[in-house]
Amino acid sequence: MRFETCKLCRKIFEFKYEYSNDSLLCRECMMNEAKVVAHLERFLNNNKSDLVRARIYKKTGVSTRYLQHLINDGKIKVDNIILESLCINCGAVTTDQLCDKCKLDLKYEISEWNKTLLI
Ligand SMILES: [Zn+2]
Ligand SMILES: [Zn+2]
Repeated sequence: MRFETCKLCRKIFEFKYEYSNDSLLCRECMMNEAKVVAHLERFLNNNKSDLVRARIYKKTGVSTRYLQHLINDGKIKVDNIILESLCINCGAVTTDQLCDKCKLDLKYEISEWNKTLLI
């Protein structure tokens, strides 16, 4: 089990990596989108320059993917966010959803998995 401190309410919670939820925020905070948006805006307003997503994630706990979701929904304005893509698996800067290394790892896992199916 992995425990993290919620970056919003400071509560300790059990962190489970899920594709749809990898933010360092507890469940209650994640359920409250308005609260997360306010939390992000407070950070963005206080940090006008040189914002990259990795730093936003580190400071606010809001994952790259969830941030993108909020941006796509028009809930967060992106004037001062440098929108480089980060690997959704390891967080490395990449041009795709997954970096080359993780793509290779994934391919390997899938081929191993196929092998076990064929036996
Ligand atoms: Zn919380
Ligand atoms: Zn990666």
